Amino acid sequence: MKFGGTSMGSAERIRVAARLTAEQSAKRPVVVVVSAMSKVTDLLLDSLRKAEAGDQADLDANLEKLSERHRECCRGLLPEKKQHEAIAGVERLIAEFARIAKGVMMLGERPPRSVDEAVAVGERLSAYLMALHMEAEGMPAVAVNAADVIATDAVFGNATPLMDPTRARAAAVLQPLLEGKPDQRRVPIVTGFNGSTLDHRPTTLGRGGSDFSASILAAALDAAELWIWTDVDGIMSGDPRLVTDARVLPEITYAEAAELAYNGAKVLHPRTLAPLVERGIPVWSKNSFAPEKPGTRILPSVDSGHGPHAVTSMTDVALVSMEPASAAISGTKLMARALDALAQANVEILAFTSSSYRQSFCFLVRQSELERAREFLEEDLALELVHGYLKPIEVDTDVGLIAVVGEGMRGTPGLAGRLFTAISKHDINIIAIAQGSSELTIAIVVRRSGLEQAVRAIHGEF
Ligand code: ASP
Ligand code: MG
Repeated sequence: MKFGGTSMGSAERIRVAARLTAEQSAKRPVVVVVSAMSKVTDLLLDSLRKAEAGDQADLDANLEKLSERHRECCRGLLPEKKQHEAIAGVERLIAEFARIAKGVMMLGERPPRSVDEAVAVGERLSAYLMALHMEAEGMPAVAVNAADVIATDAVFGNATPLMDPTRARAAAVLQPLLEGKPDQRRVPIVTGFNGSTLDHRPTTLGRGGSDFSASILAAALDAAELWIWTDVDGIMSGDPRLVTDARVLPEITYAEAAELAYNGAKVLHPRTLAPLVERGIPVWSKNSFAPEKPGTRILPSVDSGHGPHAVTSMTDVALVSMEPASAAISGTKLMARALDALAQANVEILAFTSSSYRQSFCFLVRQSELERAREFLEEDLALELVHGYLKPIEVDTDVGLIAVVGEGMRGTPGLAGRLFTAISKHDINIIAIAQGSSELTIAIVVRRSGLEQAVRAIHGEF
């Protein structure tokens, strides 16, 4: 079971998480993965930036905020006679963070490996507090640092797990805690988000990576199920802030959930499902604020009927268009060069389309990655641009992406027609479209001003 930041956000929430854990662990062995308390990772990252800038006063203020948040949690979570010890433990962990922050300040830079070590303190704090609370309530539990369990490559800040060594580590560190009768077991409360390289240098799995941590451990331990506790009722047919009649989907497939996560639905970290696919481990997405609700079950396959299952959308994207100056120039080569430049820049392409005799093509990237994309493209294609083989690169940031997702769309004629008719009724122009041959997702780029209306129209139509 994985508890996200809001599900760990206060003493009261941690109590609920502990109770939900106890209910299940009475029936079978449970491993818990936790996020840092809500907003704590942001605070830690901000502190490191302050340290890098040499801003001692702001750093100290942040450290005080961090400390007070967790001390308050101790007071609300533990009986008085345990609070002293707990607060001392909290201060020890915060001192570890402060030591790294001090190093960052001296260096005047933030080495990625040190950032990863420092930022994992957020999860170490929340795991520590939850384990202390469970122990105090007579539920045997132990906090585990995932740096001792999850093995990763050395891409600091966005590491990828190495599954075989992770299996071995999980068998050594976690398995012994899970064996025996219920009263002999201890619930491991594992930190989400972090891991370490084979030679034990600390890493993290990217922002929001605790979901991914949980799925890595579920796969490594051959779990029967993975439950992801959040603050929403499950995965929905549309964003409830845009679509008033959005509903919780009882079941969706891994592929659908991954597409939704990738295309802006904030339900799951986009990499979460990959480790589970091979073993077919089912996932529940559930609300810790309303645990009685069934939530969404994510499965390898679902009998889903025809048509889309959900619509999601994304703002803060940019459409980049490129076109050879004349039809005599190979558009294919230009595309290859452009894609290579984007790969070098480590920019993710959200959608790509090309057409026409003129061999123009366009692709969608996140606005946060736009400058890097442009820099690499202009550098790699500098000669073509200077000599006029390539028209100037056009960028349009006044756009939004809509993704219509559903396995049931495959091989069903007429859906695209209904989709586009629904949008056009509102006089919204479609700027670009992309549908892969898997027919799992139709991606549509529209003007930012028409995005919400289009999402509602699509949701209403289906
Ligand atoms: N605490 C980390 C973050 O905020 C990981 C997570 O919550 O999933 O990104
Ligand atoms: Mg989170």
